[in-house]
Amino acid sequence: MRHYTIAIDGPSGAGKSTSADVLAKRLGISHLDTGAMYRALACALIADGLNPAKEDEVIPALSAYSLSVEFTPEGQHTLVNDQDWTERLYDHEISQAASDVSRYPAVRRYLVAEQRRIAEGQSFILDGRDIGTVVLPDADWKFFLTASPEVRAKRRLKDLEAKGEEITFAEVLKDIQRRDDQDQSRADSPLRRASDAYLIDSSELSFEQVIEYMAQKIEEKLGFQDV
Ligand code: C5P
Repeated sequence: MRHYTIAIDGPSGAGKSTSADVLAKRLGISHLDTGAMYRALACALIADGLNPAKEDEVIPALSAYSLSVEFTPEGQHTLVNDQDWTERLYDHEISQAASDVSRYPAVRRYLVAEQRRIAEGQSFILDGRDIGTVVLPDADWKFFLTASPEVRAKRRLKDLEAKGEEITFAEVLKDIQRRDDQDQSRADSPLRRASDAYLIDSSELSFEQVIEYMAQKIEEKLGFQDV
């Protein structure tokens, strides 16, 4: 197999990005975190005093933003008009703002085109919400990674606490449920499992078990000589 693509979709906090990182290293290929692109755009809008929840503020401003992604040995950097937002992407307020901007078809058209362009011509893992359904419907492997809202909230809380954010479990859970609801019910490219995606519920699985399951599915088709 020359170039191949792997799609990992699922709700917030399911561990898509971390698994994609580990898997990409193991396979020696690149990983594009598409959520970071929605997040970086939300950061830029907020910095410019615009409200991501208001479509009539976001859409006219869109043509002034140029988003780019750089891959370094330390990981992905996501820039808007050459400003690197990587350090701010996971601030608590950005999660909801990213979900807000991701509802607008014009935003999705722009970012989906960028994602396809980046993944062209080389092997890539993309993680997001609509990779297997919209961005790369012909991906060679598709995984839909999920876990119960409580398990995801617990994991997210740990990350936020490690960053020094003061927030309760109840707040994180409410936030996750609100974003799940918004991501699943939006009209354009809602979060859903592609019919040909492997479903992984990681509520009762260790991180290593999730990686092993995915790697096994990939390696059995790819063949050992290619890995
Ligand atoms: O994956 P992450 O939580 O970083 O994504 C932030 C937000 O961006 C999600 O809540 C979702 O609304 C949006 N998103 C999307 N499509 C993608 C990736 C992320 O709509 N492919």
